[in-house]
Parts: sequence; structure tokens; C-alpha cells
Amino acid sequence: MSWLQFWKRDTERALQAGAEEATTPDDEAAPIAPATPVDNSTLVPPTRRLPPHMQKIVGERRRPVEMRVTDPKQRLARMRQQRLAMTFDLDQGELAEADDNPWTNRISLLTDAMGTVHDDQLTLRSAPKSPYFPVPPVPISGLNVSDTQPIEVAFKIAPEMFDYQEELDWAERGHQMALPELIRRDGSALPLVPVDTPMALRDALHSHLSHSLDVFASDMRDRRLDEEALPVAPTLADLAPPCAECGGWADWKGRCATCAMRAGEELRLRREEQRLLDERAREAEERHRLTERLPITRRRLADLDIEIERLERELQHTAQ
Ligand SMILES: [Zn+2]
Repeated sequence: MSWLQFWKRDTERALQAGAEEATTPDDEAAPIAPATPVDNSTLVPPTRRLPPHMQKIVGERRRPVEMRVTDPKQRLARMRQQRLAMTFDLDQGELAEADDNPWTNRISLLTDAMGTVHDDQLTLRSAPKSPYFPVPPVPISGLNVSDTQPIEVAFKIAPEMFDYQEELDWAERGHQMALPELIRRDGSALPLVPVDTPMALRDALHSHLSHSLDVFASDMRDRRLDEEALPVAPTLADLAPPCAECGGWADWKGRCATCAMRAGEELRLRREEQRLLDERAREAEERHRLTERLPITRRRLADLDIEIERLERELQHTAQ
């Protein structure tokens, strides 16, 4: 029965279109509409295939059928195919009704997965404060932003001199929409790391200051281009203020890499939670639909069996 679980959606949809046909097995005069194409691309992975015997049945149903099948043998063959499809419906319905069924099992797995997501959310929200160590308010002096292109940004944070220059792609300058990259040509953040910084934080602070220096230089260039005033008396401490949220280092613009990462993770978990909720609702809906249809399917199958038997007797009679 395991393949039933796996392919059920394709088969369900494909056969649904022909379901009405099965309700009136004796009314062969009614033209049978070809199955409406169903866009289930969002639900069915492209690799999933129907088992061969079901493909044949679905294929038969999708084919525009001749208006009228008058040959009793042909009618009988078609009814037997219909019967196979209805048996499949019946199996699915009975499976859905059973205590231990794939839909309930999947719902339970999805609930477990949601529990994991909730745990991750709690862990994220109760994350400990980020490590922090202050840097002294050493003045950022000699700030100079050139008026000519390529723009150059220079400043000094004792004892280190910094020099940034735009890297222009002259050939594309005329069409370029994005600002050219500002490259640091001189200066290192390493001498700016206070000597008394705890060993465990030195690398992190070095890397933060290096990033924040680049942010500062870019901001100076942008202010020049936007004809905004340059900051008054900026200091090294402005490059590493404590983040109000997590307590770690924020950059010159007040942005915190740790908080940005946490926000991204929070968003990912929220989306995952929603996806699991949607999927669980779909499973429950499908289980409900299958069990709800079961009495009708049983009745139709019984009707079809009577009809098949009648036709078989008729054919037997004709043969004698
Ligand atoms: Zn933060």
C-alpha cells in the first residue's frame, strides 16, 4: 500500500476528472469530457510518477473519447478500467479512515518539526549578550574628502593614517549606475585594537573595526556626493558603540552584524513555521476529503459492479 501514499495526489487529481463518468456507468451516450488539466506543480515534486498501470488508466481518461461506445465488449473493458480507478479511490478513503494512516502520520511529523522550530525560536530569543570591549575616543583627525574623481577619503586615527580611493572602471563610467568601490589603500585596524583588550576578543574587535572603518569612509564619500556636512569631531569610539539590542559592537552607522544575522534567522524560522502550518492544514484537509467521499465511492462501486455483472451476462447470452 505504500505507493498509494506516495502517488496519491497525482492519481487523486487525475482520476477526479473522470469520477462523474463512473457514476453513470450505463449512460454511454453521454460524451465524456477530457480531464481538465490540473496545475498541481506546487504540490507534486516533478520526479514523482504514477505507477505504470495507473498511468494507463489516467491516459485513457485524458484521451478525448469517441462519442459513443456501442460495442458491449468495449463498454465492458471501459467499465473494468473505471472499476480499477474507483477501487483506488476506495483504498485511499479506507486508508484515510484507519487509525494508523499516512495523513495522520505526516501531520504528527509536521507537528514535531514545528516543535523544533519553536525551540529554535526560543533559543534565538534567549541568546546571551554579545561580547563587548570599549575602544577609547581617539579623535578621527585630518578628515579630507577630495572633490575630484576618483574620490579619495583620507583621515588619521593616531597613530594610523588611512587612505581610501574609488576604483573606477573608466570604460563604463558613463553608464555606471552603482557607485564605484571604495578601496582602502593605506591603514590598518590592528593598531587601533586597545592593548588591554581580552585575548579572546582581539580578533573579533580587529575585524569589527576594519569593517566599521570601511563603513565610515564610504559614508564620508556619500556625504560629499550628496553635499551633506561631514561629521564634527568623530572619534574611534564612534566606530564601535555598544549595540542597544545585543550589547555587541555596532558600526559607524549604528548597524550590528550580530543583530542582522539574528533577524535573518528569525525571519527564516517564521517562514518555516508558516510552511509547516500550511502543509499540516493541507494534509488534514485531504484526509477529511477522502473519508468524506468514501460512502459515495462505495455506492458507485456497487452500482458499477451490478452493471458489469449485467453486461457480462448479456455477453455470455449473446455468445451462446
Ligand atoms: Zn546587536
